Amino acid sequence: MKDFAPTLLRWYATNGRTLPWRGTHDPYLIWVSEIILQQTRIEQGRDYYLRFTRHWPTVQALAAATEDEVLLQWQGLGYYSRARNMLHAARQVMQQGGTFPCTIEGLRQLKGVGPYTAAAIGSMAFGLPVATVDGNVYRVLARHFGIDTPINSTQGQKLFAQLAQSLLPQQQAADFNQAMMDFGAIQCTPQSPHCDTCPLADTCVALHTDQTERLPVKGNKTKVTTRRLTYIYIRCNGFTAIHRRPAGDIWQGLWEPVKMEEGKMKMEDAVCLRQNVKHVLTHQVLLADFYLLLTDQRPALPPDYIWVHESELSGYAVPRLVEILLESVPEITE
Ligand code: SF4
Repeated sequence: MKDFAPTLLRWYATNGRTLPWRGTHDPYLIWVSEIILQQTRIEQGRDYYLRFTRHWPTVQALAAATEDEVLLQWQGLGYYSRARNMLHAARQVMQQGGTFPCTIEGLRQLKGVGPYTAAAIGSMAFGLPVATVDGNVYRVLARHFGIDTPINSTQGQKLFAQLAQSLLPQQQAADFNQAMMDFGAIQCTPQSPHCDTCPLADTCVALHTDQTERLPVKGNKTKVTTRRLTYIYIRCNGFTAIHRRPAGDIWQGLWEPVKMEEGKMKMEDAVCLRQNVKHVLTHQVLLADFYLLLTDQRPALPPDYIWVHESELSGYAVPRLVEILLESVPEITE
């Protein structure tokens, strides 16, 4: 156990990834990267991070943005509550004088900052000796120490958090946390871990008991439901109708075309552009149909709909599924 951290840190010194948010102690930049990476692969997250921080290089700049602007920058990343929470948190920071809190408790007060993100910012920006525990850490620890407690159980979360904390070298918290993340992503990968070149192989329980496939153990998964969506793209003299999705459902705050059940259009005039387009979210599988309706008269729609010129549609943040559907809308021909 005592060799774990030194071995890991030696591995990290030669194998650690060069990422745009590494090597900074700026809590704002670390926070942005951590929120983006919560549900996003590094390769995709890197581009978003660069664009986002170019657009808003400081927490002051972000706090002054509108929700629409932030959602537009976030478009395509999914889990849009992250973007809304970031804007809220940036404003919280500004209300507190414009300086990020430098304690775990203070960081946890920021909207959208959970234990993992607080530990990441705390260790990387302020050198706090707190271990981060994410999917990579669960996997590395479960395998190396041969632990089969489900990682999504309360007991498992407590156990892994305590173990990670006990392994953390107090003076090198940031490097250790980043090393664990890279080690899980590069060496101890979910499928086919590279045990033959692993510096921790000698002491790895999973390897010696042939359990690398089995560990980590996950408890029962949440049920996934299927949901049908039907959209109509109305084209009326160069304008189309969209509305903002309300709170209490997926994609809050994003825009979408008319939903079938909400309008009383004569559907026999509509052309079907796409059918059964499948989009998978964490707990839902969406199946969408998409229609085009050409009309000279604007149909009556519920009051939350607005008419926007088609050339300005790209200025509205839409969910990825809608973005895919919109690609099938034919160009206007005079
Ligand atoms: S030996 Fe294999 S399973 Fe064990 S820590 Fe290394 S890569 Fe992971």
